[in-house]
Amino acid sequence: MKPIILTVDDDPEVLNAIERDLRHHFRADYRVVKAPSGEQALDAVRQLRQRGAHVALFLVDERMPYMSGTQFLVEAVKIYPDARRVLLTAYADTETAITAINRIGLDHYLLKPWEPPSERLYPVLDDLLSDWFARARPAFDGIRVVGSALAPATYIVKDFLASNQVPYQWLDVDSDRTARELVSGSNGLGGHLPVVFFPDGTTLSQPTPRELADRLGMQTRAQKPFYDLIVVGGGPAGLAAAVYGASEGLRTILVERSAPGGQAGTSSKIENYLGFPGGVSGADLARRAATQAKRFGAEIITAQEAVELKREDPYRRVVLSDGSELTGYAILVAPGMEVRRLEADGLEQFVGAGVHYGAALYEAATYRGQDIIIVGGANSAGQGAMFFSRHARKVTMLVRGPDLKSGMSQYLIDRINETRNIEVLTNTSIAAARGNGHLESVMLRDSVSGMEREMNASAMFIFIGTAPRTMLCGNLVLCDPHGFVLTGRDVMIDGKRPAGWTVERDPFPFETNVPGIFCAGDARSGSGKRVASAVGEGSATLSMVHQYLATV
Ligand SMILES: Cc1cc2nc3c(=O)[nH]c(=O)nc-3n(C[C@H](O)[C@H](O)[C@H](O)COP(=O)(O)OP(=O)(O)OC[C@H]3O[C@@H](n4cnc5c(N)ncnc54)[C@H](O)[C@@H]3O)c2cc1C
Repeated sequence: MKPIILTVDDDPEVLNAIERDLRHHFRADYRVVKAPSGEQALDAVRQLRQRGAHVALFLVDERMPYMSGTQFLVEAVKIYPDARRVLLTAYADTETAITAINRIGLDHYLLKPWEPPSERLYPVLDDLLSDWFARARPAFDGIRVVGSALAPATYIVKDFLASNQVPYQWLDVDSDRTARELVSGSNGLGGHLPVVFFPDGTTLSQPTPRELADRLGMQTRAQKPFYDLIVVGGGPAGLAAAVYGASEGLRTILVERSAPGGQAGTSSKIENYLGFPGGVSGADLARRAATQAKRFGAEIITAQEAVELKREDPYRRVVLSDGSELTGYAILVAPGMEVRRLEADGLEQFVGAGVHYGAALYEAATYRGQDIIIVGGANSAGQGAMFFSRHARKVTMLVRGPDLKSGMSQYLIDRINETRNIEVLTNTSIAAARGNGHLESVMLRDSVSGMEREMNASAMFIFIGTAPRTMLCGNLVLCDPHGFVLTGRDVMIDGKRPAGWTVERDPFPFETNVPGIFCAGDARSGSGKRVASAVGEGSATLSMVHQYLATV
């Protein structure tokens, strides 16, 4: 059954025109359903739900009598929460559309008329439908992961698949009889959970990310013997550099230890990135950027960590965790930051078994209707709390400071205050974690009174800041005392070029103390620590890389 695009307009002429244009472009993959009013459209939506149909997109006129487009969408998204939402507006309605962005998570508003559709209609809807397809694609007939939600080994597999946006069906042996039957019928595989079942009938039990990547046909090894530019890290900075490098004709390879997207990829919604008035999820941004880089010819290898940088003039080498080496002329180091670990009695044993660092958005379904804790008081914690509040029964935010104001944007504070099932506990930290194989409760400590009390929680998501991931720099590339890479003028000491500097010029901006090794993004000392700044730095580095390459 094809997924559905539902369009609503009270003007029969406009309704027929939009139906015609939609059918023309989408009929191979989607069924177009039309309705002449919000009320009739809602009836249709209820019937579609009953029949088990999948609605991918609502395209709705805002100005309709009785029920406006926004009013319709408020109700329709309760039934199909994953469907993309687009309003058709007249110029004068843009204020309404902007309000709808906040109220119903409107994805886009299209101004009437949408002529020519090839420029003003199809690109927008193609984008939204590919987002929908990547995230909300109906029951998958492919990979199945069978394991225990409470086991760290399962967490590693789910985390790898989810962050690489590989769709899979999750079957929990603790609650699902089919899952138990599947593993017990598979020659003793049940002893080594999780087991990954592939559509061709083969299995992998307790696979490492590299084994999974290889089995899924993801690139884990370089294809060329030599590159003009080697990028370490597939966050926004690295991806931007790969897009620009490859599009400007450089032989470009990007190495990513986990999944493209970096920290940004874990964000449920980035609302301040230019050009996305309705926000964009980190996963969408990552998927688009990785596709863009590959389209220009960049190689992206995943599940490989860069462990060392080498200088053998005029070549630069990157040593990977499997012992292989990449060779090229220039390196861009963009390893970003990683979350700080939380120190609390007994906590470490529950990592992956109820305790998660960062957002781990794919865990939302596991904790549906349960009580969870978010640790941290900055924007990332706020975004995490907002996201999980849609799934959990109650979200308790634990903030060490006296309020949220010092670390969080006001718009997020306002949203948190308006959200009924989020409670914020200030002056509070975690003293200990308890449970039996899985997190069950935490001991909270009030930093003002010193009192401790126990709170039950099924899961805890920790966002307590980050530190640069620059171990690979070793003694070759200079870092500041906090581990951030020094670049440009910062590597000059008393106006003198750094030791071992061999070229007749000062270091370029973004260039480290080693000619031809650059750094961009959050790992760079003095960087902006935002998606846009990382993208900007990754792109800007390319002009220096070109200047450098002209000399080797
Ligand atoms: C939950 C969350 C929400 C956020 N929300 C926003 C927001 O709304 N707006 C905003 O502007 N900013 C936001 N940020 C900040 C933003 O995501 C970062 O500033 C940005 O991602 C930095 O990009 P980067 O490329 O420098 O590094 P990162 O995003 O950290 O990416 C670095 C990548 O390099 C990889 N890597 C590291 N070391 C190695 C190695 N040795 N070998 C191979 N690969 C390696 C990592 O796995 C990672 O994928 C948020 C951050 C978080 C954590």
